[in-house]
Amino acid sequence: MPQIQLINPADESLLRIVAHTTVDEVDEAVAVAVDAQRVWAARPPAERADALRRFAGAVDAAVEELAWLEVRNSGHPITQARWEAGHVRDVLTYYSAVPERLSGKQIPVAGGIDITFLDPIGVVGIIVPWNFPMTIAAWGFAPALAAGNAVLLKPAEWTPLTAMRLGALALEAGLPPGLFQVLPGRGPVVGERFVTHPQVRKVVFTGSTAVGKRVMAGCAEQVKAVTLELGGKSANIVFADSDLEKAAATAPYAVFDNAGQDCCARSRILVERSVYDRFLELLEPAVKGVKVDVPGKESTEMGPLVSRAHFDRVASFVPDDARVAFRGSAPSGPGFWFPPTVLLPASRTDRAVTEEIFGPVVTVLPFDDEADAIALANDTVYGLAGSLWTRDVGRALRVARGIETGNLSVNSHSAVRYSTPFGGFKQSGLGRELGPDAAAAFTETKNVFISTD
Ligand code: NAD
Repeated sequence: MPQIQLINPADESLLRIVAHTTVDEVDEAVAVAVDAQRVWAARPPAERADALRRFAGAVDAAVEELAWLEVRNSGHPITQARWEAGHVRDVLTYYSAVPERLSGKQIPVAGGIDITFLDPIGVVGIIVPWNFPMTIAAWGFAPALAAGNAVLLKPAEWTPLTAMRLGALALEAGLPPGLFQVLPGRGPVVGERFVTHPQVRKVVFTGSTAVGKRVMAGCAEQVKAVTLELGGKSANIVFADSDLEKAAATAPYAVFDNAGQDCCARSRILVERSVYDRFLELLEPAVKGVKVDVPGKESTEMGPLVSRAHFDRVASFVPDDARVAFRGSAPSGPGFWFPPTVLLPASRTDRAVTEEIFGPVVTVLPFDDEADAIALANDTVYGLAGSLWTRDVGRALRVARGIETGNLSVNSHSAVRYSTPFGGFKQSGLGRELGPDAAAAFTETKNVFISTD
């Protein structure tokens, strides 16, 4: 039986061996899910809402357990991991209102009555990456279940443990058996089978743009619905008229959170030329102040990278010290420790400026004026997140309108709230998760005309 060894990224110890799902097992899971979905969709709305609230309650009772699983499996700092588990509870609670509220329309027409129904799609396959294993899974499964669907969830190879526990909690909370199944396994096996299986009617994929393109091409074969949440290379734009101290003090957390393994990481800091040197002076102590330490400590702000392979990839962006302005500290091995690193690139086309690094490495570049800032921010295939700092409201609105990105914060780095839509422009993705409309994205609209003649 295929399996994978899970390694604790903070000390490289063997954590657990997890069996991988085969294609035949995926097919069996789909057959069970088809039946479970019919049972689920036939339940009265109030019962479905209640079941989701019980699931949220079970997650709430398990916050500490889930958080420590994430600490060991993914190297997330414990305070962050607790937030993530609490966020899963909150997302479930938010979408537990959906079964009793999601409804179609009654449309005025001649000769009868026209109504629309929002039918569940059926079985939804959700494929998630390793960087936020719990939260990203919940962004898909909570609205999908709430809209009356069954869900098959494939966690990333390296980080399946919290997803597997969430699957067990759903059962304990009384969701119908087979409605929410977690299938750990390899992308090209389990993930691809979600794409090719005719009874998986929608795929939600979060991961790299390269694999996302492949998933989309596969879905096109069957005209299968697909949501894509892909890579990012977001800008943090600092104008000379901003609160420079605050912008510099917060910039490290906008990129080094989760050790930079964050699709929303503001990994390109763009600073108006007149305050560029001053900004770097302010940034240095802030970067050196980031508390990089073992993830189980309450004071830790940044833990290790997820794996040796990922460490090597991140390190390839910093081959030597030539472009390094300064770095923070990191524990020495064992563990995949990489210090927060600030690069001053030689040009706007450096690989570190154009490619998603997905680690604790940030570039700082100067810009000349508003138009230059917008052009530089948009000079990427991605468009996921971003921040801008200015005290001029007019400028804030002009620049916000000019930037091609799905999520922008003015004078903050806020990116994700369960009640607001999240997703990317350009090659950062297709469709939106979270917010009031996410559940409807897991439905098909059926139009019914009833003649009154
Ligand atoms: P990845 O694309 O390598 O893998 C993502 C998932 O896809 C994993 O579960 C993997 O097993 C699976 N997969 C791999 N090959 C597959 C295939 N052929 N068919 C179907 N599934 C397959 O990405 P990763 O390295 O796990 O994650 C990092 C990437 O995810 C970064 O680019 C990051 O920006 C992106 N990301 C995006 C968001 C977002 O919301 N936009 C959020 C988090 C991460």
